Amino acid sequence: GPELYAPERPNSKGFDLGHAPTLAKIEEARAPWRSHQWQAAPLLAGDAQPEAAKDVTSPTDLSVTGTVSQCSPEDIELALALADPWDAPAEERAAILNKAADLYEENYGELFAILAREAGKTIPDAVAELREAVDFLRYYAARIPDAPPAGIFSCISPWNFPLAIFTGQVSAALAAGNAVLAKPADQTPLIAHRAVQLMHEAGVPRSALQLVPGRGSVVGAAITSDPRVNGVAFTGSTATALRIRKAMADNLQPGAPLIAETGGLNAMIVDSTALPEQAVQAVIESAFQSAGQRCSALRCLYLQDDIAETVLKMLKGAMDCLRLDDPWQLSTDSGPVIDEGARAGILAHIDKARAEGRVMKELMAPQGGTFVAPTMIEVPGISALEEEIFGPVLHVARFKSHQLDQVISDINATGYGLTFGLHTRIDDRVQHVCDRVHAGNIYVNRNQIGAIVGSQPFGGEGLSGTGPKAGGPFYLSRFCAPDRQQVNA
Ligand code: NAP
Repeated sequence: GPELYAPERPNSKGFDLGHAPTLAKIEEARAPWRSHQWQAAPLLAGDAQPEAAKDVTSPTDLSVTGTVSQCSPEDIELALALADPWDAPAEERAAILNKAADLYEENYGELFAILAREAGKTIPDAVAELREAVDFLRYYAARIPDAPPAGIFSCISPWNFPLAIFTGQVSAALAAGNAVLAKPADQTPLIAHRAVQLMHEAGVPRSALQLVPGRGSVVGAAITSDPRVNGVAFTGSTATALRIRKAMADNLQPGAPLIAETGGLNAMIVDSTALPEQAVQAVIESAFQSAGQRCSALRCLYLQDDIAETVLKMLKGAMDCLRLDDPWQLSTDSGPVIDEGARAGILAHIDKARAEGRVMKELMAPQGGTFVAPTMIEVPGISALEEEIFGPVLHVARFKSHQLDQVISDINATGYGLTFGLHTRIDDRVQHVCDRVHAGNIYVNRNQIGAIVGSQPFGGEGLSGTGPKAGGPFYLSRFCAPDRQQVNA
């Protein structure tokens, strides 16, 4: 197996948010950044000549959080021309990635502040996100592959985990020795800029890691269709992944890998033997935490008839207790959705359901930013959902005991396969359902969001992604040159 170039370190400790002195420490570390203005720009191996700076606004109150200067066409060309695979010895690469992890942890106050202001992340979300980013750096550092790098790797990430997923892609590509062009999502360039600064400070050469902020349709399209690029790591919507695959097929070498982690239409089944309190907490967290903006989030809950009324009553009560507010405050359960476009799309979906008399429960959204109130909608089944609704909207369907296998085949028929949740106290049923559901990550008698690097590798199948799973033992091999012996065999 892969050599371990660093002693395997346990996962990042994170912060105990039930401990008052720890909270006070976080407060103190974040305070200087409450109204700081960050400036993001391309970080290239040469002198960039970016477009004019534009404002980055907070989804919470639309205040200006900083500015971003996007790559000009000349910048993209410069980045491609100067990209140079990282040929430092494996031990040195590992030490630098571990150093970057340490710098991330030291700078937690600033990183939490950017995550709250730029991406609307609550404190628990920001803590989990930083931990995952640090874990990715250390996990891949400990597993530097022997194989040669692919060459130049484009890493394209979404706004919903703008630090963790961004860092996961980049650190994997760097661990394998590639030259990385990192394009963050349009909505979250500030956190990406700070992350790359910290990686450069740790010792990653600029020619091995360049930040290329800009629109997906411009910069993203350019770095996935240039024949000098040898591979692409992408996380985002299924539609964008398909577009990228076409661009790669038309322009890159046939063997260039695409590692795509995409959307989901995730279901949970709660049968009549489930513990209602446990199921309700799991549903609330899975559907509404992070304002439902997780690829793993629960979209369609199947309740067995016999338990449905009990669970629905408790669920509505639990929804009433959710607090939507400024994510900077610890008392906030859920912040805004990422921007006005996202909000408009989710509200159109809710409006349609309301017109059809299918809204079972909705809350009030705060004014000012781009908030969407958590909403529960009745559906006959998951096939009624035409696409992933990326927000705090829970769809609920009912089933009878003899319909269980039909429910499973309806879930599989969506073609997605990211996460799945099951609540039951029948042991045989766990095996029966898990053997049949097509999903990358299955969660039993708990919420269905979150994954721990190293122990719960994360990734989907079908329309949800190509694999291999991030944070797992097979991920890094896809960032290496194809094995010549295998190719020639
Ligand atoms: P998105 O619209 O697909 O964008 C993702 C990234 O692709 C952004 O950086 C975007 O740039 C870029 N992009 C857009 N068009 C492109 C093109 N033609 N060529 C190259 N790059 C292009 O997705 P999103 O709205 O940011 O993220 C939400 C989606 O991500 C959801 O579907 C969610 O399920 C999925 N997701 C999946 C996972 C997983 O692990 N499976 C994890 C997180 C999120 P711009 O921002 O500039 O448009």
